[in-house]
Amino acid sequence: MKPPWTPGDSEVHARGRDQSELHAAALAVTRERFGNEVFLRGVVEVSNICRENCHYCGMRRDNRQLERYRARFDALAELLVHHRPATITDINIQSGEDPVAARELVLPLVQTLRRETPLGVSVCLGTLAPSITRELQAAGATMYIIKFEVADPVLYRDLEAPGTLEERAGHIRWLNAEGWNVSSGFIAGLPGESADTARRNLEFAAQLPLSGCSVSPFVPGDETPLSSSPAASLDLTLNCMASLRRMRPDWIIPAVSALNIAGPDGGYRRGLRTGANLCTMNLTPESVRGDYLLYKRDRVIMNEARILEALEAEGLQPSPTSLADHFRRDLAMLPA
Ligand code: SAM
Repeated sequence: MKPPWTPGDSEVHARGRDQSELHAAALAVTRERFGNEVFLRGVVEVSNICRENCHYCGMRRDNRQLERYRARFDALAELLVHHRPATITDINIQSGEDPVAARELVLPLVQTLRRETPLGVSVCLGTLAPSITRELQAAGATMYIIKFEVADPVLYRDLEAPGTLEERAGHIRWLNAEGWNVSSGFIAGLPGESADTARRNLEFAAQLPLSGCSVSPFVPGDETPLSSSPAASLDLTLNCMASLRRMRPDWIIPAVSALNIAGPDGGYRRGLRTGANLCTMNLTPESVRGDYLLYKRDRVIMNEARILEALEAEGLQPSPTSLADHFRRDLAMLPA
């Protein structure tokens, strides 16, 4: 079997003709594997209460400026069961690391969604205890999104990311062993990273048992210790996405909405040309959206109209198949 392609430092920092060739190769691999279809997943941010203290994140527990919220179950269930956009096939329920929200809000929401909708259900809730994680799975969630953030254990520790890098990777392996489809990810261009961090991020991702991986450009967050650090470049972010795609043609790679911040002039659409095959649609109720503070309060929200416009402009269309069904089919095709 041909060994999988792995990127070198020159790929992730490519410019000019080399960069155009890398992006074109990633696009070709994506179209070959997924055709013109892109998965559409809704995301609801259900709690901004967080016991972690990551330096890059506005929801860190030391941010006393932030008004904390937990969404109301009834309002969320009503929205997702009766008023969700017709094009989404999956939903991701996301929060700060808030075990109370996981038990009291997310668990009943997963049960309701499985009972009353055909949506595939993902969760992104941080490193939770085995018992609640198993309950979420028994309730019908099948995909877990948990980023390893940066593949440098010293930088990971200095940024006070959750636990240690080794523990985060161990949790990812455990989730996979428990039967979850796991998507991970990393932040490109974090302050303090070195010239080889991007390549190390890609190599680290390749060693994990993943179904997908995201690349988020670092955006200096308001009310964080990194608020005056420079943002990541769009070039680095897109090169990492393209390298990921060349490395793993089968992975789910999202076009993250922060591409609009890293590249206000078409960054999101360029993501759709460098290997992305998933768009996420923000469905968080407007009343609390401003307090789900990853970086800035006035972030660009990717709603259904903006996503469909971007897809049409790129000659793409929403996938009628959910991610959950896509993974089920993939599994069914594996040799017994
Ligand atoms: N608490 C959960 C966890 O730890 O997985 C999920 C929510 S957490 C806010 C979601 C992700 O936002 C983090 O894993 C991190 O990668 C990303 N993030 C936070 N601040 C960021 C920033 N300033 N720039 C880019 N990504 C950021």
